[in-house]
Amino acid sequence: MATLSNPSEIARETLKQLMLRRMAPSPDNYRAIYNEIAGIVGKAAEMFPERELKALLLALPKESTAQQGLSRQLDLALKGGNWDDFRKALVDFIKEHSTESQLAWGELITDLLRQWEAKQSGLTPARKRESLDRVLSAGGKNSELLYARLQSLTKSWASNEAAPEAIELAADVAEAVPVTTAATTSGAPVSRAGELLSELRELFVFTMEVIVAPQLDDEPELLAEAHAIASAVRGANTLRAMQEILSASKRFAYRLEFLAEDRKEIGAGLLMLLRLMIENAGELVIDDQWLNGQIAMVRELVSRPMNVRSINDAERRLKEVIFKQSALKRGLIDAREALKQMLAGFVDHLAEFADSTSDYHDKIEICADKISKADDISQLEDVLAEVISETRIIQLNAQRSRDDLRLSKQRVEDADRKINELQGELEKTSTLVRHDQLTGALNRRGLEETFDNEVARAQRRKSPLCIALLDIDNFKKLNDSLGHDAGDAALIHLVTVIRETLRPQDTLARFGGEEFIIILPDTAVDDGNKALIRLQRELTKRFFLNGNEKILITFSAGLTDLRPDDTQTSVTKRADEAMYAAKKAGKNRVVIG
Ligand code: GH3
Ligand code: MG
Ligand code: MG
Repeated sequence: MATLSNPSEIARETLKQLMLRRMAPSPDNYRAIYNEIAGIVGKAAEMFPERELKALLLALPKESTAQQGLSRQLDLALKGGNWDDFRKALVDFIKEHSTESQLAWGELITDLLRQWEAKQSGLTPARKRESLDRVLSAGGKNSELLYARLQSLTKSWASNEAAPEAIELAADVAEAVPVTTAATTSGAPVSRAGELLSELRELFVFTMEVIVAPQLDDEPELLAEAHAIASAVRGANTLRAMQEILSASKRFAYRLEFLAEDRKEIGAGLLMLLRLMIENAGELVIDDQWLNGQIAMVRELVSRPMNVRSINDAERRLKEVIFKQSALKRGLIDAREALKQMLAGFVDHLAEFADSTSDYHDKIEICADKISKADDISQLEDVLAEVISETRIIQLNAQRSRDDLRLSKQRVEDADRKINELQGELEKTSTLVRHDQLTGALNRRGLEETFDNEVARAQRRKSPLCIALLDIDNFKKLNDSLGHDAGDAALIHLVTVIRETLRPQDTLARFGGEEFIIILPDTAVDDGNKALIRLQRELTKRFFLNGNEKILITFSAGLTDLRPDDTQTSVTKRADEAMYAAKKAGKNRVVIG
């Protein structure tokens, strides 16, 4: 076969040969026949991807002179179909480029220093130093990686968009793929993921140090582990470090689970102990009605599932019980002491009196004997003088005994007065306690305290809060027709129904005679309204029983929500006005104020 030199002739001949040799016109067959016809052998016969290389050439940047030079060289090699030339031009360029990149350290360091000294919002020098330390230690011996990360860090400081942590984490992500500058700065998705990871990391550290650690004061080993994990998370820069932390965290969580179970058991045990103590306390104060009532209430509180509020309530009530009991005890000790002194004095005087009278009798007997034996009047004179003297002595003794007895009586009266004063004081101080003695609902003082706590809690949690003021309808009529005691029982009935209908976290306080305030935490007005309507319905099902007589108790209520500048006075006033409006509108209803 004659060797052809014109490419189009070679191509035509190639197709002819493919046909003659009955070969499939595949690119490989075409290339083999073409090379054969054109006389191309050896390396030159290897595949030369002209089309792809042309596309690459077009895509190459041609901004700098070096880049333009490379393009020209590659273009020539392409036209000549010379792969060797093409490869050489590329390799030379890359070598030259990598020299440039080494030289760019100077530029990078200048940039870094400029950014180091510049001020960026939200970046303190300490934070920058921390980020730089991490990048330097994570870069290790790989200078390309270090270059890429430092470049990313500098850029992040300059743009001040991504947090430094985002860069470190972006670098972590880049570690999983071949490290190139492009990979570490490959834009939004990696940096966004880095930001989110960074937030997660902060949250994890916060949870460990601020939430978990304070729970572990009595568990030094676990406490140390919590801090160790938190600081490891803070300093973790590589995926492997993160994996290690993950395993440590799993082990830690497992141990926490055990601890939580132990604590639950301890809590249940303590509660049981508390119940037992309350039972016993009830036995001790059996003769005091008020104390018995209080104890019954504490007992009821601790028999239900406990929460922070009910524990606080139980604690306060127990304090009241202890306070009143100790005051009563003091009074009783005083009274007993006075009585003992009086009795002791009385017995002493009786004994003295008995001694002196028996002495007197003896002496009078001797005198009588002397009188019967007397021979003359002169002898009688002596005996008479003796009798008069003895009688005077006994008179004086009797008088002294009477005076002493009077003094004892005075002392007992003083002690009695003191005890009465003490009782009066006790009654006065009982207004200092937080609960109403008749119904067990909070009194005004208790309401004030609880109001402050609930308002603070609502503001802290940014949750809604409602206040309702209830006034029993026609209560005077009930009192007048059934008597004051029935009125008292009706108040207790209402309080019982309210307690059992509303949630445990709702607070009930007796505001005045037949007026009550309810604080409804985490409740918007609509839900508060529903709760009050539920209460009204419950009262129609649970009549107040006066003997066999069923009496329906209704109330009028004003309901309002807590607003930003509210005080206890302003919110109560609004609820009161709404309650008054409910009365005016015909009673037995709820008005929202
Ligand atoms: P209205 O429907 O308008 O509220 O009328 P009312 O009769 O309920 O209201 P009023 O204020 O005229 O009367 C309230 C009565 O409540 C007067 C008082 O004797 C009675 N009360 C106040 N405190 C107590 C208490 O502790 N026990 C008893 N049994 N009655 C009380
Ligand atoms: Mg009233
Ligand atoms: Mg009333």
